[in-house]
Amino acid sequence: MSSVQLYDTTLRDGAQREGISFSVVDKLHIARKLDELGIHFIEGGWPGSNPKDVEFFDKARSLALTDSVLVAFGSTRHAKAKAETDANLLALANSGVKAVTIVGKSSALQVTQVLETSLEENLSMVADSIRYLKSKGLTVFLDAEHFFDGFKENPNYSLRVVEVAAKAGADCIVLCDTNGGTLPDEITAAVEAARKLTDVPLGIHAHNDGELAVANSLAAVQAGVSQVQGTINGYGERCGNANLCSIIPALKLKMGIDCVTDEQLAKVTEVAHFVSEVANLVPDAFLPYVGYSAFSHKAGLHVSGVTKWADSYQHIDPARVGNQQRVVVSELAGKGNIIYKAKQRGLDLPLKGKEARKLVEQIKLLESRGFQYENAEASFDLLVHRAKPGYQPPFELVDFMVVVETRRRLPTHGGLEETLSEAMVKVRVGKEVIHTAAEGNGPVNALDQALRKALLQFYPSLSAVKLIDYKVRILEESVGTGSSVRVLLESGDGVDEWRTVGSSTNIIEASWLALADSLEYWLIKQEKGNPPAKS
Ligand SMILES: [Zn+2]
Repeated sequence: MSSVQLYDTTLRDGAQREGISFSVVDKLHIARKLDELGIHFIEGGWPGSNPKDVEFFDKARSLALTDSVLVAFGSTRHAKAKAETDANLLALANSGVKAVTIVGKSSALQVTQVLETSLEENLSMVADSIRYLKSKGLTVFLDAEHFFDGFKENPNYSLRVVEVAAKAGADCIVLCDTNGGTLPDEITAAVEAARKLTDVPLGIHAHNDGELAVANSLAAVQAGVSQVQGTINGYGERCGNANLCSIIPALKLKMGIDCVTDEQLAKVTEVAHFVSEVANLVPDAFLPYVGYSAFSHKAGLHVSGVTKWADSYQHIDPARVGNQQRVVVSELAGKGNIIYKAKQRGLDLPLKGKEARKLVEQIKLLESRGFQYENAEASFDLLVHRAKPGYQPPFELVDFMVVVETRRRLPTHGGLEETLSEAMVKVRVGKEVIHTAAEGNGPVNALDQALRKALLQFYPSLSAVKLIDYKVRILEESVGTGSSVRVLLESGDGVDEWRTVGSSTNIIEASWLALADSLEYWLIKQEKGNPPAKS
């Protein structure tokens, strides 16, 4: 099959997702990552609509992208106006990019009902705008908005828009499933109809309202489009855009289309996590290809299958997309799972049959107390380390105390209640016992601060470790405030993320256990397991 160009709109359409707000610096970081991934076109924003995007295009000049071309987004000229004097088109022409995308209506109903102009005037708006931008030496893409809905209602008009755009000199006409409700066979039929009209390259821009954005994009490629628009992690308006993190591997590994290099493909998981980090969203563990759980095996039958033949329960080799196979440890696990998992986690430990059996017993006991290792691999690794004879932990807890105090402010100071938390922690590092205290905005935060204060004297690099996510679950088995709670922590150091677990009837203690595991795990990974001298 012919080649496909990837067009990313994370910085414009992706930023439309509820809860996302990218700063200019965020957008520059993401653009650089997309370049590393080998995305051909990066849509940076709409310079005619907001000053933040103007600033982005100004600063983006110094990005020196190697594989990607930056694209500015805008719309066709206004009705009954001149392209040459249209503020929005002028902003595009002056944004300093080599390629632009303009959105134009390609549904007759949308033209009369929403744009409130005549069908003929809309055709002129499309043609004039393309001609004007082409006269400025730009590569011009037309986003044919509502093309597929329009094709259902009045196919002749939608196809007429395509014809007019082709004649005006568009470099690619991108057929949009703007409302995201089209089915794959409808996409195929409409793309084929447009394909017959013109030799100008076509593109696809699909939204995910029917959860078909990826399927629709791939169907469009099979029907002959050569540009695929989408976003990282499928972020976008409403239910999102077509997810490029699924489309890229599908194109490359399943359809044999060499849209990126093997090295770039192997970065897709990293880029997916990077963008979710910048968007301040917890990465979705269950995303295909790039999710943490995309290649995990829990059922005993599956685990025994993958130990014999890695591909027995996976559709691709996870390494191709920079992900990895995981075996989930649960109460279903046996000795074989533990040994396999420890090996797979890269734990080079002499875990013999007897030790492994003991470890299984211990895991079962801890699970009966509310611990769960399915999503807390770092805590699992620590259990394996601790099972090793002679293991020296980088630090040990002697005791801790947390005080939470509520004070009422004077009426002259707002009269509101103020809660203060203070933690005192005693830890042993080697032969030394350190006693520290710290305040925090809550009891867990205070504990975290006090523990770090104690450990930073010995392990200064620990300041790289940050708490990413904190989840508390009340365990169903028990009732009311006497019930057990499980705390799951996600931590990161800017390179890796890891998860730890704690469980107790006391939420502070459960948090402490997860917190201590998080720091101990990182210290061991840095091979700083032995207490160094105080700096
Ligand atoms: Zn869109």
